[in-house]
Amino acid sequence: METLLFLAHAEDDGSLSRAALEALTGAVELHRQLADAAFAVGLIGGDVTPAVAAASGCGAAAFYAVSGADFAVSRYASDVVALEAICRTSGATVVVAPATSRFNRVIPGVAQRLGGRIDTHVGGFSVNGADLRIQRGYYRQRMIATLTRAARPWFLTLDSGVFPTWNGAPAQVPVTTLDVAFGDNLGRTRVVGYRTPLANAQTIRPDAKLLFVAGVGWTKKQSDAQVHLDDAAKTIMGFLDKSGASLGSSKSLVDQSSEGHNVFAFMSHLNQVGQTGSTPRHPKGLSTCCHGEEPHVVGWRFIGERRAINLDTNCGWAQGKADVVYVADAFELVRKVTELL
Ligand SMILES: Cc1cc2nc3c(=O)[nH]c(=O)nc-3n(C[C@H](O)[C@H](O)[C@H](O)COP(=O)(O)OP(=O)(O)OC[C@H]3O[C@@H](n4cnc5c(N)ncnc54)[C@H](O)[C@@H]3O)c2cc1C
Repeated sequence: METLLFLAHAEDDGSLSRAALEALTGAVELHRQLADAAFAVGLIGGDVTPAVAAASGCGAAAFYAVSGADFAVSRYASDVVALEAICRTSGATVVVAPATSRFNRVIPGVAQRLGGRIDTHVGGFSVNGADLRIQRGYYRQRMIATLTRAARPWFLTLDSGVFPTWNGAPAQVPVTTLDVAFGDNLGRTRVVGYRTPLANAQTIRPDAKLLFVAGVGWTKKQSDAQVHLDDAAKTIMGFLDKSGASLGSSKSLVDQSSEGHNVFAFMSHLNQVGQTGSTPRHPKGLSTCCHGEEPHVVGWRFIGERRAINLDTNCGWAQGKADVVYVADAFELVRKVTELL
């Protein structure tokens, strides 16, 4: 019989992040499918009271918490001992956790301490009797693999955007608070504060509702036979500022930077979407000045609603790859939309 443990860390205000609430829905779903499995929740953070309340109605029989100022911050040395203690106390055989940057750093270390195994980027489960299988995308290879493992404990970090956020009614639950002692290791890493880039310096925003893709058309000669790079940069950044969208790019556009052409300073290969780029998840996507070729569009498979702006009525988007295509000049249209925003 499996013991399923859902792990999460509280945010600064004690709440659970969207990624954690989505992973909780995944854990509840897995518990429903795993006949006879015990179900526990483990939370770490400065103050986990709101997080416990948010998760309390999930049906878990046991709640474990490690809290206090030492656990408010993301730090490997303290997180790893807290999570190890929760895993050992709960006797977990399957551990589900959100793939947040804090957990991506520490969960592999917890798996190592417990002699377990870990799979990351998990996008789904299926259970047949006692046989648990997971799905994991290998995006570059354009494959979804189904995996199973005999080794336990088995740690699974869930990508966000797969499950809906958990919204169950709170319930009264007993919480077991664990006292965790750590040695001198902690003294080596002190968190003295955060330095974050300006909001407009970070163009990749995984939580944005909209993916805005720029293609190489922004750098091409326009109807006046001139290139308008400055105008293009201002139009794109103006739209991103107003809409809060995440910026994606076609390969051809980001490749220009490595070839010494005039390019956009705010773009790098990290923005590239597609077969040899990323496969972001957003509810909506808007492609601009991008032709919509298959190696690019394959990176849109997790975009809910697709729209494109292109001058060419025969572009790839118009051939069944987008829900709506605006046959228009993207410079004019994006400027107008930004104005309206
Ligand atoms: C193995 C392999 C892997 C690849 N992987 C990727 C990948 O991961 N991601 C990726 O993106 N590509 C990838 N490619 C490249 C891909 O096939 C295309 O070459 C690339 O996506 C084209 O980029 P683009 O659409 O920006 O440029 P173009 O094909 O040059 O299209 C520019 C578009 O802009 C439009 N346009 C111009 N001016 C305006 C305007 N004012 N208003 C509106 N529209 C305008 C034009 O009509 C045109 O359709 C890969 C190719 C190969 C062979």
